[in-house]
Amino acid sequence: MKQGLLLIISGPSGVGKDTVFKELRKRLPDLRKTVSVTTRPIRAGEIDGRDYIFVGQERFELMIAENRFLEWACVHGNYYGTPADEVTRLRAEGCDVVMVIDVQGAEKVVNRICDALTVFLVPPSHAELARRLEGRGTEDGQAMARRLEEADREIRVSSAYDYVIVNDVVDRAVDELAEIVQKERQRRGDDD
Ligand code: ADP
Ligand code: 5GP
Repeated sequence: MKQGLLLIISGPSGVGKDTVFKELRKRLPDLRKTVSVTTRPIRAGEIDGRDYIFVGQERFELMIAENRFLEWACVHGNYYGTPADEVTRLRAEGCDVVMVIDVQGAEKVVNRICDALTVFLVPPSHAELARRLEGRGTEDGQAMARRLEEADREIRVSSAYDYVIVNDVVDRAVDELAEIVQKERQRRGDDD
């Protein structure tokens, strides 16, 4: 069976990666998102095993030692990682896999998996990114300032990605992303 594609959606915190991916999946329901492992405390409304696998620091470090992650990163003071076996298994089953991850993690995946398709979401402006982070209300003032500072650094490396999409209006950004996925599916099909 032909291996499924691996799509990496990355970009600064608060740009709208999860929002855009959720809409993308409504249009392309057969996409499979990996469930990451994190040491971050669970937020209201999140479900363990669906949104993330929530673990303690010790368990996460053990998973690193056992080489269980395709990539992992410390993002804004918490650890996040993608289990390697899940990605390998899903792709081997022919599923198209999506990872919604931070910029450091995306860089690690690209170094290990050369056929990964990489998409970077940018906000229309710094002020709009600040508004979105504030509106989501999941960070206190200090954590938000740290995320905004990191965002400026991250946006500078966006040219290394296969595609950069401005997430100005969700529907428009999703149109662009869906077209990229469809084009890639077609290209891979044509290669047979
Ligand atoms: P990320 O996954 O990149 O951290 P989220 O998907 O959680 O970001 O989005 C951060 C906040 O911005 C959310 O409150 C979301 O509703 C909002 N948002 C996302 N995309 C847009 C957009 N295009 N226009 C306005 N608000 C948006
Ligand atoms: P949040 O805590 O807001 O859910 O996520 C914080 C950041 O970590 C987001 O940019 C999110 O995309 C990223 N992230 C989530 N899972 C992973 C992962 O498995 N690996 C990496 N490197 N980043 C992740």
